[in-house]
Amino acid sequence: MIKLEEQAEEKALQPSDIKNPICPFCLKEIQKIYMREIKGYLGKRYLYYCSDCLKVLGLSHRKGFWMG
Ligand SMILES: [Zn+2]
Repeated sequence: MIKLEEQAEEKALQPSDIKNPICPFCLKEIQKIYMREIKGYLGKRYLYYCSDCLKVLGLSHRKGFWMG
């Protein structure tokens, strides 16, 4: 079983202990993720993208036409 552990920034005491997710495109630590709502005929989705390079990191998968 995989343990899920929350990595909160305030828990880090040393700057080197801060483990923020890294953007796969610009390889910078992600400080902020931008979110944009997409409305389509399959329903509402959210697009997430890096605040630094604006490349898309992912889409939310909501219950829709072909997603369970
Ligand atoms: Zn980026």
